[in-house]
Amino acid sequence: MLRKLSIDEIQSVDAAHRQLITTYVGTNINLPEIEADFVILNVYLMSSHLEWYPFFGAVAVRGEHIVYCGPYSRSADELNPAVPFEFFFQNEVEEAAVCQKPPYVTLVAPIWLDGGGQILMPGLVNGHCHGDMGLLRGRGDGMTLAEQNEAFASHNWFQDFMSDEDRLLARRLTYVEALLSGTTFICENMYWSLGERAVEVMVETGIQGALVEDLRPDFRISDVYHSATWLNQFRELCHNHGLVAVAGCAAEEDFSPSIVQAEHELAAQAGLWETRHFSETTWRLSIVADHYGMTPTHFLSKYGVLHHRLIASHGVHLTTEDIQLLAEREVKVVNTPLCEMKIQDGAAPIVEMLAAGISVGLGTDGACWNNSNDIFREMKGVSLLNALRLGPAALTPEQVLDMATSMGAAVFGEEKSRGTLAPGMRADFILIDMNQPHFSPLITSGTEQNVASHLVYCATGQDVRDVFIGGKQIVEDRKVLTTDLSKLLNQVDAAANKITSLSSSSSAK
Ligand SMILES: [Zn+2]
Repeated sequence: MLRKLSIDEIQSVDAAHRQLITTYVGTNINLPEIEADFVILNVYLMSSHLEWYPFFGAVAVRGEHIVYCGPYSRSADELNPAVPFEFFFQNEVEEAAVCQKPPYVTLVAPIWLDGGGQILMPGLVNGHCHGDMGLLRGRGDGMTLAEQNEAFASHNWFQDFMSDEDRLLARRLTYVEALLSGTTFICENMYWSLGERAVEVMVETGIQGALVEDLRPDFRISDVYHSATWLNQFRELCHNHGLVAVAGCAAEEDFSPSIVQAEHELAAQAGLWETRHFSETTWRLSIVADHYGMTPTHFLSKYGVLHHRLIASHGVHLTTEDIQLLAEREVKVVNTPLCEMKIQDGAAPIVEMLAAGISVGLGTDGACWNNSNDIFREMKGVSLLNALRLGPAALTPEQVLDMATSMGAAVFGEEKSRGTLAPGMRADFILIDMNQPHFSPLITSGTEQNVASHLVYCATGQDVRDVFIGGKQIVEDRKVLTTDLSKLLNQVDAAANKITSLSSSSSAK
């Protein structure tokens, strides 16, 4: 839990810090000052730009951005001269270079928070989700994707039983669950447009993300598209709220040369990223093989729509040639490992894609296909699934953490502003309390440190205590500050009861 320091404590921290530096350097240097809105000290910093080594120190935030991430010590015990300081000052604080060796600065801020020795790491990226399906948790159990499509989509189940209000409520539930488990950026894949209301729940809950507007107003009619005017408006709507605007394109069952080219043209004209469910199941693969005699990757390549602004969701069934093509065209991939296992999609060649240089992020998919929205579980899932394929050394914890943070941000072209704790990045970060039995023993220094391992193999979203997005605290000591949780859960119960009674009276007919 974060504890606010008193003015006396702030002054004594500052005095101790200055004294320590003077003692350590042996001369009275002129310390550069960094002004911030608040500082969190007494934390272990974990980030890909620090190579996932736990550095003890502080983070300072000004406005929406991190302005300092590095060592900050109140006592000689906390100052570790062995820390490779060059990690910390690659982007900012050039003056530090003139101070010789360690990056000696002082932080000036009105608010100082004691992190109590917790882990502070970048917020997680959920690159593939369907929040609209949040009220259907548990309804897809025991079915493959094809069987679910037959049970639900083919019979208008979603349209008949779920209103727009239900969908917005489902999203609220999903995003609150995501926030409480450390996700700060989520990609919402809509099936049906919500018009200008599409941004509503992300804005209200405070989560950031990407919004996918399917190019087809009715996704069952594959060649009727939204107007260019609306797609431009949609892009502006997203950008006005700091969200990434994405066009939803057809999956394999609707592939034709004219359709994939028309989609690409529309999306490119409106300046939208593109995404599609891609090479997810053998069932979908065989559709393209039967009609066109090639893999989905080769099909998209042949018709000129395999490119660096395409986010390929799932990417389970890929040949070596497919992976090479995806890498050459800089296509991004989001895999949802627990979903792929639960509905028997298969095990994606994650290790091979990473080796080829493809940016691969993690997602959860929707509640019909996974049942939870916890990226920590996906991290463990992707690690174990690839251990089963290729042995226990297939993926390192550090690679998996990259997928959930910096590489996940890169999937959406956001790697320069999100996904690490480096100065200049958005202040999207989470705190994890490791003072618990399932993280014990905890080793935070030396070559045998186990913090990255614990984050991948031992943590779940329930261990996240605080969440900051753009410098604003959204979760405080496991309470979401933007949402009345008990009201939300009551609304969810009422809506789920309505859906259940509509569904059961319909099936009784
Ligand atoms: Zn999906």
